[in-house]
Amino acid sequence: MAILKIKKYGENVLRQKSKEVTKISKKIQVLIENLVDTMYHNNGVGLAAPQVGENVRIFVIDVTEPNEAPDPIIFINPKIIKKEGAINSYEGCLSFPQMYTNVRRYESVKVKALNFNGKPFVIEARDGSLLARAIQHEFDHLDGILFVDHTRNVIETSMLLDKYNLPKLEEERLIQEDELEQEILERTPSDKEIAEKHLKEGKNDN
Ligand code: ZN
Repeated sequence: MAILKIKKYGENVLRQKSKEVTKISKKIQVLIENLVDTMYHNNGVGLAAPQVGENVRIFVIDVTEPNEAPDPIIFINPKIIKKEGAINSYEGCLSFPQMYTNVRRYESVKVKALNFNGKPFVIEARDGSLLARAIQHEFDHLDGILFVDHTRNVIETSMLLDKYNLPKLEEERLIQEDELEQEILERTPSDKEIAEKHLKEGKNDN
């Protein structure tokens, strides 16, 4: 059991594509235990192996509330087998201390992976839940993709990186997500719609 040092944005290991795990050895299981301990130590919702300098396809997530018993989910060699819908989400990352920014995500994902003992499982996370968003965030780490690559607002994200003394946004890495953006815009009520709804609800009260 050990708390590992977390790699920060700008370190090369975060931009590498990670390799599949070929054997769930004792060494891999120790890494997983350390990932879980390191995630809890830093009050994180998830942590991926590249964030502790290991380019292997493993991440851990725990979306339980602080007053609930811990319930870490271990993902080894995960595959996203279904993704649908679109949402936006303010996310942070342990590799970007203190910084949160607005990113695009799928609303629901279905993932196949191996657990701590190498047993396959399937998990579905829907409705833009914390789990759905965390799975996408951590999965990206295995391909060297970071949450800022999904930003909805380049100017805001650039300012925040500057504020927290982090390296600049790598604009060539920004992901084109026109369809997701369109869907997010369509489901976000306009100011006029919000005002009309407010008026209507006010009238119903009288
Ligand atoms: Zn992260």
